[in-house]
Amino acid sequence: MTQTQQDLVFAPLGGVGEIGMNLSIYGLGNAQKRSWLAVDLGVSFASEDHTPGIDLILPDIRYLMSERKNLAGLILTHAHEDHYGAVLDLWPKLKVPVYDTPFTAALLAAKCANEPGAPDIPVTIVQLGSRFNIGPFDIELVSMAHSIPESNALIIRTPCGTVLHTGDWKIDLTPVLGDVTDDKKLRALGDEGCLALVGDSTNAVREGRSPSEADVGKTISTLIKSAKGRVAVTTFASNVARLRTVAEAAFGAGREVVVVGRAMERIVQIARETGYLEGVPPFRPADAYGYLPPNKVVALCTGSQGEPRAALARIAEDQHPEVTLARGDTVIFSARTIPGNEKAVGRIINGLIDQGIEVITDRTHLVHVSGHPRRAELEELIGWVKPKILIPVHGESLHLSEHAKLGRSLGIEEVVQCRNGDLVRIAVGHAGVIDQIPSGKLFKDGQILVEADSRSVIERRRLSLAGSVSVALAVTDKGVIAADPDIDLIGIPERDRGGLVIEDAVYDAIEQTMESLPRKKGGDAVAVAEAVRRAVRAAIVQRWGKKPMCHVHVLTV
Ligand SMILES: [Zn+2]
Ligand SMILES: [Zn+2]
Repeated sequence: MTQTQQDLVFAPLGGVGEIGMNLSIYGLGNAQKRSWLAVDLGVSFASEDHTPGIDLILPDIRYLMSERKNLAGLILTHAHEDHYGAVLDLWPKLKVPVYDTPFTAALLAAKCANEPGAPDIPVTIVQLGSRFNIGPFDIELVSMAHSIPESNALIIRTPCGTVLHTGDWKIDLTPVLGDVTDDKKLRALGDEGCLALVGDSTNAVREGRSPSEADVGKTISTLIKSAKGRVAVTTFASNVARLRTVAEAAFGAGREVVVVGRAMERIVQIARETGYLEGVPPFRPADAYGYLPPNKVVALCTGSQGEPRAALARIAEDQHPEVTLARGDTVIFSARTIPGNEKAVGRIINGLIDQGIEVITDRTHLVHVSGHPRRAELEELIGWVKPKILIPVHGESLHLSEHAKLGRSLGIEEVVQCRNGDLVRIAVGHAGVIDQIPSGKLFKDGQILVEADSRSVIERRRLSLAGSVSVALAVTDKGVIAADPDIDLIGIPERDRGGLVIEDAVYDAIEQTMESLPRKKGGDAVAVAEAVRRAVRAAIVQRWGKKPMCHVHVLTV
């Protein structure tokens, strides 16, 4: 392959080697100049342990910013946070045309409306199953069943061949709502010729097929029918099929549905507007809950991930203004617990059980199904599409490698295992990683985006582990302490094991240091500060066994 020949490349800038933060780019051209298409722009959720005070992680888009003039567009496959959650924060850095389908567009618009100072993002709404061009890329949408309405795979046709980017999908012949996976179009693609499959690996370790949403409906119906008291169901608000499933189960049992939680109210409204709750009787607002007899109500709540401010956590703590539960009531967790949230969810479950409330989870009942394909579904897709090259994405290392093995076992000759930042050439006989491009993570810290290795984040991690000590010291130009030092210990125990006050030890360390300082250093504020800092830290390490952050301010008087 010569340098100037046109080629097709792919690079994940997020979502490969991890679950979350999806951002993929496709490039058409040559090493000197390429046109780019970006697919999805998502977030990951941070776990408190490693990054205190950070909730959201976003992909580092430095590379796309440097290639902005060659970026033809951004297309969003669906409205899950791991695919579109970073748009509000990162779009202003790219100002690129955005393409999405009506439901995704409605959720994005609602998100903008709810965030003060959100950018005004021009969106081109494309219809399900439609075909259109973004720059040199000829794109056709393929409807896929998933756990949110309007999940789309993309057929990306280029002069160098055709790629199927699956997005998130599963096969569900009875999805309760929305289109089934469009196997006709996928088989046709197989006949036409598919160069590469870039596909969802989330459930590549799971044998068989994922159960259908309709099966979940049967279980939830049975549970609600047999419940004596009140029933609360918590799920992801965006899983509109599940909202419908719960609603139908509730109405089937002669109960009304009360919507609890802002995110839930918002999605219910959008789902009504976009037609996804057609035929479902109106829901009642949370303030109706108190007037309904216990056996006539189902509360549909936010908070399935144990979020402390969401409806379910507040109900469990009896802090919710309108909704209460008592002994004999039932709570159904109709959602998977995202790794990292187990403790928060466990706390709520245990709290509810301690109050005599029955808790049902997907560990014992089929009250939730995944929106991702298991192995038999992955096999079926590969059989339909017959790709020459397989590139597993959307998964952690284990998921990716299982997907890769499965592909090889089905006879796909070229399987490319790549990671975030790898530039992959998509060409028969030459598929593989050819270069690296800048990639990484950004943290959303309050309203500010910071780099993952920024000082503020590293310092906060240290602060959270070992606290800080600060000393203010007034010293004469002869190196004599002019007043009692001001000492502030934050996050440090008051006394050591022997009962000695640690602050006193700090005080002694300062005094001894000042006495032992050579004369000529005594008036040098920088030298004094450094000597005192070392001594104070050593004194605390000796008594506590941990190294706090330590700041000394010396004022010469
Ligand atoms: Zn998804
Ligand atoms: Zn996803």
